[in-house]
Amino acid sequence: MERAVYFDAWLKNQYCTHPSMPMRSLRMLEDLKDCRATSLVWAGLGGGSISLPFLHHEAFGPVDPRQRFYGYMNDAEFIRRCNENSIKLFSIVFEVQGWEFPARYDEAGGLQELNFTEAPNGYYGLREFSGKNHEGLFSKSFDDFYPNGIVNSAGEVVTNLLEECAARDYNGDMIHARWVEMPVEGAYCIQTCRNNPVWRDYLKKIIMLQIDAGVAGVQLDESELPITALRHGGCFCRDCVDGFTKYLRDLKHMGKLSLEYMNLNLERFNYKEFILEQGIDFPNGDQVPLFKEYWEYQVLSVKQYFTELTDFIRSYGKETQGEEVLVSGNFFNGMPVYYPIRDTVDVVTTEMECTLFRQPHWYRYISGFANGKDVIVAENPYGGIVPDLVEMLNRGKGYDLYRIFLLEATAYGCNMAMPYGGWMGNTMRDAFWSPQEISVEVGRFLEGHDRLIRRKSGATIAVLYSWPSCYWLESTKNSTGNVDEGDSGILFFTPSNLDDPTTTRLPFWEAIRELSDQQVVYDVITLGDGEFVEDDFGTKDLSGYNLLVLPECTVLTPLQKGRIQAFAEHGGRLLLFGKTAVDDPGFVEALAKLENVTFCVNPPERVAAMAGFRDAFDQTDRPKERVRVNKPNLGIHTHKLEDGVAVHLISYAYDEIMDQCVTETGLRVTVPVSGGIAAVKFHTLTRSCELEWTINKTQYEITIPDFSVYGILEIRMGKE
Ligand SMILES: [Zn+2]
Repeated sequence: MERAVYFDAWLKNQYCTHPSMPMRSLRMLEDLKDCRATSLVWAGLGGGSISLPFLHHEAFGPVDPRQRFYGYMNDAEFIRRCNENSIKLFSIVFEVQGWEFPARYDEAGGLQELNFTEAPNGYYGLREFSGKNHEGLFSKSFDDFYPNGIVNSAGEVVTNLLEECAARDYNGDMIHARWVEMPVEGAYCIQTCRNNPVWRDYLKKIIMLQIDAGVAGVQLDESELPITALRHGGCFCRDCVDGFTKYLRDLKHMGKLSLEYMNLNLERFNYKEFILEQGIDFPNGDQVPLFKEYWEYQVLSVKQYFTELTDFIRSYGKETQGEEVLVSGNFFNGMPVYYPIRDTVDVVTTEMECTLFRQPHWYRYISGFANGKDVIVAENPYGGIVPDLVEMLNRGKGYDLYRIFLLEATAYGCNMAMPYGGWMGNTMRDAFWSPQEISVEVGRFLEGHDRLIRRKSGATIAVLYSWPSCYWLESTKNSTGNVDEGDSGILFFTPSNLDDPTTTRLPFWEAIRELSDQQVVYDVITLGDGEFVEDDFGTKDLSGYNLLVLPECTVLTPLQKGRIQAFAEHGGRLLLFGKTAVDDPGFVEALAKLENVTFCVNPPERVAAMAGFRDAFDQTDRPKERVRVNKPNLGIHTHKLEDGVAVHLISYAYDEIMDQCVTETGLRVTVPVSGGIAAVKFHTLTRSCELEWTINKTQYEITIPDFSVYGILEIRMGKE
């Protein structure tokens, strides 16, 4: 499993200044080695969102002797050191960010101040770069990157990249990336649109420079652009508008256009003008004509152009470095929009919508989302524990909370990237600097027990997440907040507060949270629709499961129905929560004839629905067939080993007054028998010991004398 570090290295007591990160140093490298990092995310070379010469300077620029005195180096030098130490640095491509910074120039045109300046007399950013202003600032200039200039899809010569590539709302206004703009006078960030070929070409030039600097991997942040712009009324740039008209024509040609739109003149159709003529406030959920078609068009564009970039990274890497360059993205909160592209990356990296103290169901979901790949999770400072945690750590408190923050992901089959000057949002003047000794302690623990940290759980229960059943519900879910006010996620509607009565119900999320609350060990298996998202259910091994839970799987493909039915006919149990395969009553009727299929209605009201789900689960559950623990205030999950199982335990018993997790005594773990046990060891952050076990009919019982924070029970099967 990867051990990632969230390597912004932004400065303490200062704003997190996108898009360029502070210079890297030898001391940082030592810190990373100490905490046993294997990969670094959001790890540098972000300056392409300012200009290509700026990025080139980050990578290869000269380092003056005073900086050398403190061990600073340019990014290419730092990357080489990382490579030598088998630390994979993922450079960051801020795909949706186009920046302008206030600057102060002297009379000769030299740069005196940038970004933080009290008396600006100009700007520096994408606009100046493409307009060939201030060309002498860096060793490279416009012509080095664009010897033949820039021409857009309308055949026009481009001299202002910001104007050209901006994502625009339906009024034609440029859309800001508010979540990264600092409250500093003058600096601003415009969202860009990847549907514009000029911007894709620019992104490829960023990628080329990053690969030339020797990076082991490239991370494509804001992987979903220009859907990023949707909640701000975009994107209606020329390429989006033209592309959407073509998409509608294709739909009509294929006979897939909804009847209500058959009278539209698609030869001349312009969605932007259509919205304006009708006086529509866009977006306004599915009340807006063609909104769903537009969303789906953008999802397919994301698939097409994200894949174009991942293919480019791999081919350019092979061509120039002679080896694989890894690819990752930022699949924010594992939202539906990312499903069509999740399989294109080597490692799934995701920011959480909000980071909480106890969220096992979220980790189990994202592990299923990753579809067999490693998951690297990055904290989000909004709407969760992070600001308070950082404040506590600043005062030398909250160390156990920080351990849990790092290790909860591990327990449930993921990896939490250790914050190293991690992002604290745009308005807090601080960065997430964690106590290094705890990061080292946890990093060494993870490295030392890597053999016991596995993606496969060996769970006997799986919950099915049906993308075609969920994507529209989640994407149009009533939003609970506004990013501009900092109380919600960055993006469009996301499945956050399940208990908010004003938001749409999400039965899948409610079901997995309920199972996690009951300490049930389960997997999430995701189902595609075969069109937007590959239907790979045929490749999934169901042999270890004895119960499949289907929360509102209203749309199922023939392949999925066939496998589910066969599973039930061969003795597997099904729990159908809510409606299933609504267009195929025969399927449900056939299942109803089987005695091991449980139906559970899903009434509209949440509390009643979940009470019903609990009852239905109790009826279908066979607790003796799964791993259990006798204390409620801890999390439990299994990791499947070749010759046994590792049971991970995490404490949620944090005591505020003591500022630590309380020590549990007499903890008893019950494991179903499948062969004999050869040895049981228990590993914590501070010690390892052998434990005894007893056998009780069909179950083993292992007693752990005392437990706090985190532990792994290593159970090896075989002859004693
Ligand atoms: Zn656009």
